[in-house]
Amino acid sequence: MAKYVFITGGVVSGLGKGIMASSLGRLLKDCGLKVAAQKLDPYINVDSGMINPIEHGEVFVTEDGAETDLDLGHYERFIDEDLNKYSTTSAGGIYWKVLQKERDGDYLGQTVQVIPHITDEIKEFIYTAAKAGGADVVITEIGGTTGDIEGLPFLEAVRQIHAEVGDENAVFIHVTLVPYLGVTHEFKSKPTQHSVKQLQSLGIFPDVIVLRSEGPVGADIKRKIALFCNVNRDSVFECVDLPLLYEMPLMLERQNFCEIVLGHLGIKDLRPDLSDWKAMMDRIAKRDKEITVGLVGKYTKLHDAYYSTIQALHHAGIEIGSKVRIKWIESDTVEAGKEAEVLGDVDGIIVPGGFGERGIPGMLAASRYARENNVPYFGIGLGMQVGVIEFARNVLGLEGADSTEFDAGTPHPVVWNASANGEGHKNGAINGEGHKNGTMRLGAYPCAIRKGSLLEKAYGKAEVAERHRHRYEFNNDYREEMEKAGMSFSGLSPDGSLVEAVEIPESDFFIGVQYQPEFKSRPNRAHPLFREFTRAAMNRKYR
Ligand code: GLN
Repeated sequence: MAKYVFITGGVVSGLGKGIMASSLGRLLKDCGLKVAAQKLDPYINVDSGMINPIEHGEVFVTEDGAETDLDLGHYERFIDEDLNKYSTTSAGGIYWKVLQKERDGDYLGQTVQVIPHITDEIKEFIYTAAKAGGADVVITEIGGTTGDIEGLPFLEAVRQIHAEVGDENAVFIHVTLVPYLGVTHEFKSKPTQHSVKQLQSLGIFPDVIVLRSEGPVGADIKRKIALFCNVNRDSVFECVDLPLLYEMPLMLERQNFCEIVLGHLGIKDLRPDLSDWKAMMDRIAKRDKEITVGLVGKYTKLHDAYYSTIQALHHAGIEIGSKVRIKWIESDTVEAGKEAEVLGDVDGIIVPGGFGERGIPGMLAASRYARENNVPYFGIGLGMQVGVIEFARNVLGLEGADSTEFDAGTPHPVVWNASANGEGHKNGAINGEGHKNGTMRLGAYPCAIRKGSLLEKAYGKAEVAERHRHRYEFNNDYREEMEKAGMSFSGLSPDGSLVEAVEIPESDFFIGVQYQPEFKSRPNRAHPLFREFTRAAMNRKYR
């Protein structure tokens, strides 16, 4: 039977609970355990697919096409296990299911209530995650902060699971803030005490407390918190702000985190083998070069909107021995004719994914600048479409060439949605039953790679699977003409019907992919395309 780790947050949000949960996942995996991780979000949205990236950060897509929160990306990067649709749900997702059951008459005329109906649905979701992957340990992170109204059913559900599986099989970890008061030069334990009290009043008694703080809080604070919060002294951990997130598993392990957590689950004598992770940290410390990548996007106000892309660039840098500095460029600021002012000092240009017409002209200008000046260019999703539109307009001379997403009446729809029904949601899709948005391509699809291409050189494979999240595709009517003019269609769906990747062989590095490779990059295993892109940028800078 699986064991359960429940992670709650106290005092404030944004404490890095997700990183903590992921770090624990890494430690447990390095003990040889099979780990499943999931996040339960108390918001009412059915999933993260339609939340504005500027408000909520990127949408992370799993192999099976679930549109999830960016925290899931931390789980995949740290634990290195593919997550799935059981890895996340929200209050909205749970209510959606319960209401459907109610409409279908499944409750046989009962009054439908938060307890037991909502809580039962949450419990089933957690139990299913355990069963689906055959996990030894399931880590369940509960989003939000203890005391939020929306979070109550989730806390009640995990309280019940604890009662059902028994003390040996479930552990509660509470992650809280210990603020530092500058005036009196001291750390304060009171907010933690209050938030633990609040949890206790809900019937949840944390076994482990992780203190988030600016710096080491000291033994006194830890002792005080152990005493007032009724936990063992050895179960209070410090988690200070880190310059590098990937340091966290090692920092926790220096305090014996894994042994204590496993102890609460009745598992003895397992120690994580962190040699691989440590070797990666060594490579990070040894990077002796630095390149600058210009990221031309439309959600640059919130860097989290491109979280996985940024991580993938850093991973690539780790592999090639270079720091990667990101130059954030809001695409609206790239004016035609003045590209060199903003892009003149970058070693590579990346245009990441996005939706809607705002900011497209600046991306087109950036893509043209890259092509004409042989600056390494990497277009992802929207970035590939932009590269294709630019090529059609300025190399083929097809005036007004566009994607039908931005100009429905374009004379040259080089990117289009052949099956568009015009009813798609503006920025995402609800994938619950009965609300399928048939036009959104989500999750992993195979891509056959052309022999002798740059793509093949990077991947070293004839076929790969990559994750998608888009509605528009390259229009095959233009394939021949573009190919003749020097654009190569180096990645296609195996039946040849969909363009998955394009490149310009004449350039040192100009690749556009319809999919989003950043989701598959790992800190200790850079994604081949990001690796080759940063290598090209490095060659340009240090040649
Ligand atoms: N908006 C474009 C589409 O829907 C590109 C999406 C993306 O960048 N993944 O096709």
